[in-house]
Amino acid sequence: IIAHGQPEHSAVTTCAYCGVGCAFKAEMQGTRVVRMVPYKDGKANEGHSCVKGRFAYGYAAHKDRITKPMIRKKITDPWREVSWEEAIAYAASEFKRIQDSFGRDAVGGITSSRCTNEEAYLVQKLVRAAFGNNNVDTCARVCHSPTGYGLKTTLGTSAGTQDFKSVDEADVILVVGANPTDGHPVFGSRMKKRLRQGAKLIVADPRRIDLVKSPHIKADYHLPLKPGSNVAFVNAMAHVIVTEGLVDEAYVRERCDLADFEVWARFVADERHAPEMVGPMIGVDPADLRAAARLYATGGAAAIYYGLGVTEHSQGSTMVMGLANLAMATGNIGKPGAGVNPLRGQNNVQGSCDMGSFPHELSGYRHVSDDATRETFESLWGATLSAEPGLRITNMLDEAVGGGFKGLYIQGEDIAQSDPDTHHVTAGLRAMECIVIQDLFLNETAKYAHVFLPGASFLEKDGTFTNAERRISRVRKVMPPLGGYADWEGTMLLSNALGYPMHYTHPSEIMDEIAQLTPSFAGVSYARLDELGSIQWPCNAEAPEGTPMMHVDRFVRGLGKFMITEYVPTDERTTAKYPLILTTGRILSQYNVGAQTRRTHNSRWHEEDVLEIHPFDAESRGIVDGDLVALESRSGDIALKARVTERMQPGIVYTTFHHAKTGANVITTDYSDWATNCPEYKVTAVQVRRTNRP
Ligand code: SF4
Repeated sequence: IIAHGQPEHSAVTTCAYCGVGCAFKAEMQGTRVVRMVPYKDGKANEGHSCVKGRFAYGYAAHKDRITKPMIRKKITDPWREVSWEEAIAYAASEFKRIQDSFGRDAVGGITSSRCTNEEAYLVQKLVRAAFGNNNVDTCARVCHSPTGYGLKTTLGTSAGTQDFKSVDEADVILVVGANPTDGHPVFGSRMKKRLRQGAKLIVADPRRIDLVKSPHIKADYHLPLKPGSNVAFVNAMAHVIVTEGLVDEAYVRERCDLADFEVWARFVADERHAPEMVGPMIGVDPADLRAAARLYATGGAAAIYYGLGVTEHSQGSTMVMGLANLAMATGNIGKPGAGVNPLRGQNNVQGSCDMGSFPHELSGYRHVSDDATRETFESLWGATLSAEPGLRITNMLDEAVGGGFKGLYIQGEDIAQSDPDTHHVTAGLRAMECIVIQDLFLNETAKYAHVFLPGASFLEKDGTFTNAERRISRVRKVMPPLGGYADWEGTMLLSNALGYPMHYTHPSEIMDEIAQLTPSFAGVSYARLDELGSIQWPCNAEAPEGTPMMHVDRFVRGLGKFMITEYVPTDERTTAKYPLILTTGRILSQYNVGAQTRRTHNSRWHEEDVLEIHPFDAESRGIVDGDLVALESRSGDIALKARVTERMQPGIVYTTFHHAKTGANVITTDYSDWATNCPEYKVTAVQVRRTNRP
């Protein structure tokens, strides 16, 4: 229920849902939020918002919040409420016992893309300095880790090249594997405005998303790729650009490594990449493919926006590099209206990656094996750091099943629901001896936990989030933490109990330390954020007010690097038993696993996940709209209602993963990106049949 009444005071803060990072004014009566008003001076949203952000305060005060620490010796025991002191002491003693018995590397931590930069930074610091290893990973592992790998390799930095505003100057917009109107609604609206003004649109997506055809908007080309064929598609686009003489030669000569370019150009020029060869295989009309490539290369400033339909594949990193190749070849990076832009799903995916949450990188994407970087951290932290990359989440779970990994500290992440192949995840969790969860609610992962520390919502703490355009914005505390401590304070207590002291009195001090250690954040402080409103990194002596557009005169890595992107089909194949391909996504009113949105006013708008299926596939199975269907893969089976729709192509079905009750990830595979282990959520061979079993 929406609270009414005149606000007594307000504070400007940042939405904690998606990577747009809208600024809101939280209006308060005492310590109660009564309204969230989109903030007109917010640079990412300029006074706009979507329904999720407006009602976000609902989950902060929800009755399901866990506000007392709890412990239990075995996961079959009931939870026992304890003091923070007892919970922290128990967690620390268990982690120490495990390390004494099984070695330093038998424990690790997971940072959250939902929490603040400062909190992610502290968790990785705890793992590196207190645990003494690099076994830290982030939930970005399962969404945009290929973006980090692909953009760093080709361009030199793991981030989008433009700001959102730049879309206002785009002449051609290529949307690949993203659904901005549902996933990033405020940016989606801005994109639609530009399209209504006449910008051309190419949509590459297996599903007929809203952008393909909605009031006043019609895509110039909808390329309905079969899931898993992205790299073949991008190579076909490149083939047309190279063989029809559409390369921006002056740009390539001046800005890119010419030797790499020539090798790449010869590779894509091969006839096997021609649209006429590739189109039938990937489900796209070759003439459309050819015309779309011409439009992208010659239509003026061209901007690529992509989402998890690019990254969550066995060739996710290859595809990111393929998109960067396209943009470099046509001179579409570093100028207004042009660029390559990942649309980040969670509020702080960019930030959690920036903060050193990966097992091989310290903050600012510097490799742990780099002696000079490590020495800088060691001298400020007063700790000896390992030069060996640590375990990724998937490796932690594998090692746990094998008996070598025993303890995990998880802040703000529900891997039992959000990670693929649920049976494997839960087997890993069950095998561990100490799992510490710090979260708002008793989530699915908490079923396997031994210590529960109450988390704090975005309204209960100070800090910063970094959105998809590298914009660092303030999160402001408007109410005291319901559980007594903000998440950064909980991490600090645990670190102190482990014997590695942390003594911050405010998150601004953590940001000062981040700025001291991270060249791209060197000019960031809370004072500067208050003064400028928000800052896009890099922010340092060369760019004291931040950097809206990157790679303007030169690429961060120096010369842009073209990479060979050989198409390798996924090992997940359809068969007579599993003849359809399942792909997944999200809807506007829900957010990820729904832990927050289901506990807000908008939850009634969509009560369950449904299976979208083409009329042809439905009819041949005797399925009508609203039927309960069983969806079965090699990993498992679930039941959900069918929605018969021509949004889908024959042979492809689609669902969302917002509800634990449905549990879409029970049936996804354990295939993953070759470079980063990002799971291949987007391709699962399935069968669908009517069922009566709920
Ligand atoms: Fe903005 Fe995203 Fe929050 Fe909606 S969910 S208000 S688009 S940040």
